[in-house]
Amino acid sequence: MDYKDSRRGFRPQENLISILPSIVAGIFLLLASTAMVLYYFPIENALFKTVITLYGVLGSVYLASYYLLFRASLNKTRFAWINAIISGVALGGITLLVTEEIDYLLYMLIILAAMNTSLISTRGPSYFLVISAVLIHVITDLSNYPLDHQWIINLGLTIASLMIIETIQQLKKIARDQINGLEIVNEFSKQIVSTLETDQVIALLNAAFQNAIKADTYYFGIVDNEEIRLELFYDDGEYFNNVRLKRKGTLSNWVIVHQQELFLPDLRKNIQLDDVELVVIGKKKRSLSWLGVPMRGSYVDGVMAIASYHPNAFDRSTLELLSNIAQRAALALDNSYAHALVKEQARLDSLTRVYNHGYFIQALGEQAKNCILQDLPLSLIMLDIDFFKQYNDKFGHLVGDEVLINLCDVIRSHIKNTDSIGRWGGEEFAISLPFTDGQKAMIVAERIRETMASLKLNNEKYGELPVPTISMGIAVFPVERDDIIKLIDLADNRLYTAKERGRDQVEPPSTFWKT
Ligand code: GH3
Ligand code: MG
Ligand code: MG
Repeated sequence: MDYKDSRRGFRPQENLISILPSIVAGIFLLLASTAMVLYYFPIENALFKTVITLYGVLGSVYLASYYLLFRASLNKTRFAWINAIISGVALGGITLLVTEEIDYLLYMLIILAAMNTSLISTRGPSYFLVISAVLIHVITDLSNYPLDHQWIINLGLTIASLMIIETIQQLKKIARDQINGLEIVNEFSKQIVSTLETDQVIALLNAAFQNAIKADTYYFGIVDNEEIRLELFYDDGEYFNNVRLKRKGTLSNWVIVHQQELFLPDLRKNIQLDDVELVVIGKKKRSLSWLGVPMRGSYVDGVMAIASYHPNAFDRSTLELLSNIAQRAALALDNSYAHALVKEQARLDSLTRVYNHGYFIQALGEQAKNCILQDLPLSLIMLDIDFFKQYNDKFGHLVGDEVLINLCDVIRSHIKNTDSIGRWGGEEFAISLPFTDGQKAMIVAERIRETMASLKLNNEKYGELPVPTISMGIAVFPVERDDIIKLIDLADNRLYTAKERGRDQVEPPSTFWKT
């Protein structure tokens, strides 16, 4: 996500609108000073008269076309500097021509020019304008009017102009930060609506935090029983993974329970909240400002919070921004959770909740790739229930279904969570054991077989029922077959060998016989 563009601040069009009043005032002042010099303080020298008139007229024309010049200039920074030099020299130099009595009109012009420059550009050109104008004025004044109080006036003028420049720069910064924040939230919402993966939502959220909010710490957590699971946690330049907080007594829990924003500008002051005790998480450093907002959707219930090691680090606009981000994030997380749930459902067999045929083959392919990369074997077990048709005929399909569910529970209890189970057909299952050789697979298969052989079902109609036995065949990748379809075929053949040999047994891979 590229936020750089939004950091430019105001667009030239917005700058133009803000300088219009001072341009109008500037033209008026220039013409007024020229008229004053000509009519109230008559000058004998005709050349002087002409120069002053030219000065006033040219200055007004320059100011009048300033708007157009600024709009047309391709490089706004260069324009601001050129303007600062022209205005600084012109306003400083005019002292040479006019009488001391109208100096105050010049001071107003300097202040207006400083305001103008500060509005369209940064501090540099604005400071330059004021200082150069005042310096030239002082130097030329020294010979003309060596008055004692003159330096106080010039110093006052400089300070007043610089303060105006500073105020404008500060206001621009505040406005720019707010626009910036809104633009980032806007961009974040646009990108997040089309994101269905939870990881990507978290990544976008992190980018939004980094760009829109200045905080030492930020996190968002989802309620998980009595704990809060932090999905994203950044503290003092570092990310922390897999962090869980006890809910009880935390500020986060207060926000979740009350479903209300909580803004604590200074944590050194006494906090009047029931059942809340401050805890330090992440780096062992105490935060002094804290701001938390609730995040609630159909699937998510959580909290989003920021903190700082300084007091009064946040204000109402930060709260507004965080609330905005939290609402959109809750919506996006809801979508991604719903999407993940649907995706997971589509992979599972509805009766036994193990992978369906299609997804199992896909998972097996990925596991096989990983095993090749790490130069380790993968074992595949094919399993089929013995005489299941007879069992169904005798006890009914519903009891048969119960056997299938129980069988899958038994398999699950004997395998690792990196292994997978797939329902191959009606009562046939496949089990993949990545990073496992034939010997170990044989042990797993035997355990499953033994557990099934000793399992009893408690049935309402028939009371305690034995379950049917199972047969299995094992093949090892890539030692026996380096293609998964051929591997499945081989395991299937071995399964039928086990059936032929009398059922209730495991047919081991060829590697099993080698020591
Ligand atoms: P064997 O495998 O030992 O040779 O004998 P079998 O009787 O198990 O073999 P067969 O493949 O002929 O029968 C499979 C039976 O599995 C048929 C069907 O009644 C039963 N079956 C398949 N799917 C389901 C299911 O979802 N629920 C129930 N209850 N039974 C099923
Ligand atoms: Mg069978
Ligand atoms: Mg069968």
